[in-house]
Amino acid sequence: MEHTHVHNDNHLDSAIDILKHAGVRITPQRRAVLEFIINSHSHPTADEIYKALGRDFPNMSVATVYNNLHVFKDANIVKELSYGDSSSRFDFTTHDHYHAICNKCGKIVDFSYPGLEEVESLASHVTGFEIASHRLEVYGICEECKKKG
Ligand SMILES: [Zn+2]
Ligand SMILES: [Zn+2]
Repeated sequence: MEHTHVHNDNHLDSAIDILKHAGVRITPQRRAVLEFIINSHSHPTADEIYKALGRDFPNMSVATVYNNLHVFKDANIVKELSYGDSSSRFDFTTHDHYHAICNKCGKIVDFSYPGLEEVESLASHVTGFEIASHRLEVYGICEECKKKG
């Protein structure tokens, strides 16, 4: 299966462009958090990013990571996925995609599927809502957990 998160410098460059246009200053830490979230396929939590970057940025706190993620979120280049009481996961938004979530290990895997905008217009028609967004998740057991049995 093709992965929707392509990691290359184009994503980093265009994300930095978007931030600069929004008046956001690009500090080395901010760039590192951005780079990590672009290259990550695992939809990391702020804590996971903090732990991964801690060696390079010993003075960085988890609050700094959080603040950066929210700056990215405000600039619409990162989506926050909140799942009940567990801490939020963050996703770099290249284009719309959906998530398959493992019931055993909690892993989130991306997949593309076209055309659910139809659901939004139907929902709008039926309910009278002005629909802002939608979220589709499928649940099951991931490949690794299947192998473990
Ligand atoms: Zn799993
Ligand atoms: Zn995703």
